[in-house]
Amino acid sequence: MKHKKLAKKTLFKGGTILDPAADKEFKGDVLVENGKIAAVGNIAVDSAEVIDCQGLVVTHGFCDLHVHFREPGREDKETLQTGSIAALAGGFTRVFAMPNTDPPIDSPESVRFIAEKAEACPIHIHPIGAATKGQLGKELTEISGMVQEGAMAFSDDGLPIMDGGVMRRVLEYGGMLDKPIINHAEDVCLRDDGVMNEGRMSTRLGLPGNPG
Ligand SMILES: [Zn+2]
Repeated sequence: MKHKKLAKKTLFKGGTILDPAADKEFKGDVLVENGKIAAVGNIAVDSAEVIDCQGLVVTHGFCDLHVHFREPGREDKETLQTGSIAALAGGFTRVFAMPNTDPPIDSPESVRFIAEKAEACPIHIHPIGAATKGQLGKELTEISGMVQEGAMAFSDDGLPIMDGGVMRRVLEYGGMLDKPIINHAEDVCLRDDGVMNEGRMSTRLGLPGNPG
């Protein structure tokens, strides 16, 4: 898939315009000049690249707070570049990349690696730093240094932080630095090897259940 920069003057013609901030939905045109919306409505211009939007929705770029790009470590599956092109094709212009790569994003240097690579990508990619080293739930990462390099939030992704003392300090750093902590709230001891909700059906099927 290719993406290209917009012409200086581009008219998006005849689309269904969704503006959730103003709670509006209507058919019309959007004129973009030098990368900014110059006019919205029924617009006639002489010289502009016209993109026919009949049957299409014209709205703001979407934001995904939880994506898994596989760089570094599994570039054979996906890179920041290919992942962001796929995101863009679905209308997403801003994503937050989880740190469960190989190795995990658990140091200021690895956050910088993502932030620098993201500059060449067609969407905004914000790194989420691991909350604990190696996502092992034992030792805090250098949260402050990672914020300085561009980490926008902290998480061990799908791995719950089981140590209450570690979790407390992670939350305190998050509060101090005004960065959200995204937690996979699951008690692995309770979950055990459950494969479905615990209840009558799990008993009937003879399958191990998850309580709660
Ligand atoms: Zn995840």
